[in-house]
Amino acid sequence: MTAPVIAIDGPSGSGKSSTSRGVALRLGLRYVDTGAMYRAMTWWMLHQGIDPSDAATVAARCAEPVIDIDTDPADPRVRVDDQDVSAQIRGTEVGAAVSIVSSVPDVRQRLVTLQRDLVRDALESGIGVVVEGRDIGTVVLPDADLKVFLTADAEARARRRALEDAQRQGTGDAVDHAAVTQTEEHLRSRDALDTGRAVSPLRAADDAVHIDGTHLTLQQVVDAVVSALGSGGASAAESRR
Ligand code: C5P
Repeated sequence: MTAPVIAIDGPSGSGKSSTSRGVALRLGLRYVDTGAMYRAMTWWMLHQGIDPSDAATVAARCAEPVIDIDTDPADPRVRVDDQDVSAQIRGTEVGAAVSIVSSVPDVRQRLVTLQRDLVRDALESGIGVVVEGRDIGTVVLPDADLKVFLTADAEARARRRALEDAQRQGTGDAVDHAAVTQTEEHLRSRDALDTGRAVSPLRAADDAVHIDGTHLTLQQVVDAVVSALGSGGASAAESRR
């Protein structure tokens, strides 16, 4: 497969970003972080002083920001109206509001169009792409060559995310029990909103390959995705049932 399209979905903190970037780097593919697009949209709403739970205003204004993401897996920067917001979109304010903003159908419609455009650009250049999110295999790219649903148990996800947050904030390489517990609560509430929403909920595609990364290293998860692609992706999943 010269230019494969790989969809990687799963709950928050399951290791989708590291895995997707790892696979894209290993195979020389582009990388599309759709969560970063929903975060960028949310950052812009907050920056404009718009209440993220005011769905009518969010819907009315969501066509305004110019959202631009790099598809280089080595340095996937995110810009809104030409401002680099790569760091800001990872903050707690955006994290707390992003699931509400992303449940608005007009927001999804706009961002799904941008996501498909990025995939089309890659394929037109003869380059494959790894796209990560919540609804990629089910809604955005139902014809992807490989669909992966990546999970990990809640505590492992919280530990990983708490550690990433601490490293980003420069507060060290260790996290205490309280930080993990608090992160686990945030992840659970975001997952509940993402799974329970009416439009494009977080769900595994019927033909997705399920990978549980709880006891695997990043390298092992990347290997598992690459070998699933090699063994035919969706048809490999079929034979695993
Ligand atoms: O992947 P990440 O945790 O950065 O995603 C942030 C949020 O963006 C998710 O919790 C979800 O609410 C939303 N999202 C989505 N659909 C996607 C990707 C992300 O609704 N395809």
